[in-house]
Amino acid sequence: MNKKVQQWLRPEIRRLCAYHVPDAGDYIKLDAMENPFCWPEELQQQWLTLLKDSSVNRYPDPQARQLTDVLRREMAIPAAYDIVLGNGSDELIQLIVAIVAAPGRVVLAPSPTFVMYKMVAALMGMDYQSVALSTNYQLDEAAMLDAIAKYQPAVVFLAYPNNPTGNLFSETSVHKIIAASPGIVVLDEAYHAFAAKSFLPHLDQYDNLLILRTVSKMGLAGLRLGLLTGDPAWLREVDKVRLPYNINTLTQITATFALQHSEVFKAQTEELCRHRTQLFAALDAMSGVQAYPTEANFILFRLRNHHADDVYAQLKAAGILVKNLHGSSVDLQDCLRVTVGTASQNASFLDAMASIIHD
Ligand SMILES: *Cc1c(COP(=O)(O)O)cnc(C)c1O
Repeated sequence: MNKKVQQWLRPEIRRLCAYHVPDAGDYIKLDAMENPFCWPEELQQQWLTLLKDSSVNRYPDPQARQLTDVLRREMAIPAAYDIVLGNGSDELIQLIVAIVAAPGRVVLAPSPTFVMYKMVAALMGMDYQSVALSTNYQLDEAAMLDAIAKYQPAVVFLAYPNNPTGNLFSETSVHKIIAASPGIVVLDEAYHAFAAKSFLPHLDQYDNLLILRTVSKMGLAGLRLGLLTGDPAWLREVDKVRLPYNINTLTQITATFALQHSEVFKAQTEELCRHRTQLFAALDAMSGVQAYPTEANFILFRLRNHHADDVYAQLKAAGILVKNLHGSSVDLQDCLRVTVGTASQNASFLDAMASIIHD
């Protein structure tokens, strides 16, 4: 045992578990909400030419101006709002909490939701409070409003659509929560590409609303690029705690290029949404399986007659990796989450499920 570690390590860091990502191996990877498609050949060639001419001996543009402009245009972000880019939206979650962190202050979110909110709150030495979702994973509006009154949270995180449940929360409830919150409310729209709704049009109604987006789920997870937008008064402060050059040259070039060809990614998103409808219907039709309605690129489902641990293991043995949520929250008993893949990946998954369920 290393005594120095024992002596110096912050207790809240000792209590943290490292974010565990299983080795992908040769599995059909349906566990991490990745886009399953490769780029068309001609796009790859043009991109490689751009990379060949890049200057990695130089520091990247610290403001990533060209990329920010393209993102603003593609996501239709009005000029009145600033944009801060992060090394994935995960980094932005950390920066938002960093500007308000103080001992005793609270980060609030519903449960179950994206695990990074809790992890970042712990890392920043803040108190994390959660409010259980109610039926069909909707917000428990009254309980959320009570918790806001009681804890006066510095930050409220709402994933919209929510991960791992896939649904959009009631718009009315979200409005009430923003209006009642004394601190920042972050609408995390990581799955925006797959959902019909956004709170971007409501930014001008509130002085405490920030909107988080990412290019990860639309097909660029490897680049690590997220975006925060909202009132420049907040964004200027977030920008101060951002480490310089957090968006590397290769990401700036690649994301700019990809977004200039956004029609390719939009077509992929549309295809995935069609697969999502089929996958949902097929899963939900299986006896003993309840699939939950989703506006994201994944489906949460519950096993009524089987243990999620067993089904997870048997899917893995069949070469298919999904996310096992059993044990992560009382509301996710015997639940698994599957990412929508290509037609053939989805078919392999459904075949494997059918034979496991009928064993
Ligand atoms: C995947 C996910 C993120 C992380 O996005 P990155 O930009 O890849 O860091 C953020 N929020 C939610 C709700 C997610 O599901």
